[in-house]
Amino acid sequence: MGWCAACGARSTKKNKTLVFPKDPDRRFQMIAAVRALTLNNPNWNPTKTSVICEVCFIKF
Ligand SMILES: [Zn+2]
Repeated sequence: MGWCAACGARSTKKNKTLVFPKDPDRRFQMIAAVRALTLNNPNWNPTKTSVICEVCFIKF
């Protein structure tokens, strides 16, 4: 479902996309990581449909 907010990878069977974690610390960490990658959008915030791929999920 959709594209990874961080690296832009499309969801595949090998690399699934996940919703942002509900845990505030993990969530904040992920948001910071995505912001660092999308320098043109420092105020980025995940929407209800924002997802992150498993690769990025593990990396961050
Ligand atoms: Zn990714």
